Amino acid sequence: MTQAADGLNNPRPGLSFEFFPPRQPEGEKLFWNTLETLIPYRPDFVSITCGAGGSRQAGSGELVRQVHERTGLHTVAHLTCVGASRPDLTEMLNFYQDCGISTILALRGDPPRGESADVFERGAFRYAEPFVAYIREYFPGFRLGVAAYPECHPETRDQERDELHFRRKVEAGADFAVTQFFFENDVYFRFVASCREKGVHVPIYPGIMPVTDYKQIKRLSELCGSELPGWLTARYEGIRDDPERMLATGVELGVAQCRDLLRRGAPGLHFFTLNQSRAVPRILQQLLGEIRPDLA
Ligand SMILES: Cc1cc2nc3c(=O)[nH]c(=O)nc-3n(C[C@H](O)[C@H](O)[C@H](O)COP(=O)(O)OP(=O)(O)OC[C@H]3O[C@@H](n4cnc5c(N)ncnc54)[C@H](O)[C@@H]3O)c2cc1C
Repeated sequence: MTQAADGLNNPRPGLSFEFFPPRQPEGEKLFWNTLETLIPYRPDFVSITCGAGGSRQAGSGELVRQVHERTGLHTVAHLTCVGASRPDLTEMLNFYQDCGISTILALRGDPPRGESADVFERGAFRYAEPFVAYIREYFPGFRLGVAAYPECHPETRDQERDELHFRRKVEAGADFAVTQFFFENDVYFRFVASCREKGVHVPIYPGIMPVTDYKQIKRLSELCGSELPGWLTARYEGIRDDPERMLATGVELGVAQCRDLLRRGAPGLHFFTLNQSRAVPRILQQLLGEIRPDLA
């Protein structure tokens, strides 16, 4: 597949939306409604997250297949290898290949809740890097994405070392990267510049998390190692129990962040939708001229 054929590396900014597989029937309706709401913005791809590695990911796999078949969108399957055997991972990769999925976001993942760290030893791959190399060797037709951490992955806690691991993961065969969410754009641009100095030249798409529920994002930030800057926290003082005002603030800050990213040369925007349809379309509506001028 050529790079242009899957919508990545186009001259116009990239646009993508990330979803997670709903766990409850009500969540399914929300998932499909949100997807429908976002399709008119012509994403280059939508991606579906997955849980811990291997055949237990059947739920994600089925959803990826359905999204791909029903919408015709370029659908990217996240695939984690933590704790999974080669046969399990090979089965998933064969499944995606047979469904016509062309792109995998290859991840290590985290131990499932309640499992200790020795789950890493049970799996075929300890880190994403050898998993990427494996897919590259045995499934050369897939386009591969990997995760990137502008504020350092919480396990390593050493920016320089984490960037070297990232470089090795890209060298193993990644075509693009998507970052963890962040709120200070300087952090993203410093990370990209440092990666370029280290010889990493694949596109690094910034991950955008609109803050429409402050407490939820604070919890997620602590888990992911993304810093919530003081100025952002201050904007939510006094409105943390008011969903409408948080939505308005999240949209305003989201527009400002995305506009600045695009103006300073980010290759596109990858939105963590959390399956919610309220913030992202409002943000995009204000950015149409920049990101989808044909729709403006
Ligand atoms: C855009 C995006 C999407 C995501 N989607 C999902 C998802 O769908 N499902 C899910 O469960 N999780 C997802 N995650 C979270 C991710 O699985 C976790 O952050 C996980 O802890 C690391 O996965 P990784 O692929 O980045 O791992 P790796 O790249 O393997 O890195 C993990 C840690 O190991 C370190 N490391 C790497 N190589 C070495 C080495 N040789 N020696 C020592 N240390 C090393 C790294 O510095 C890092 O600290 C996503 C993250 C992002 C940014």
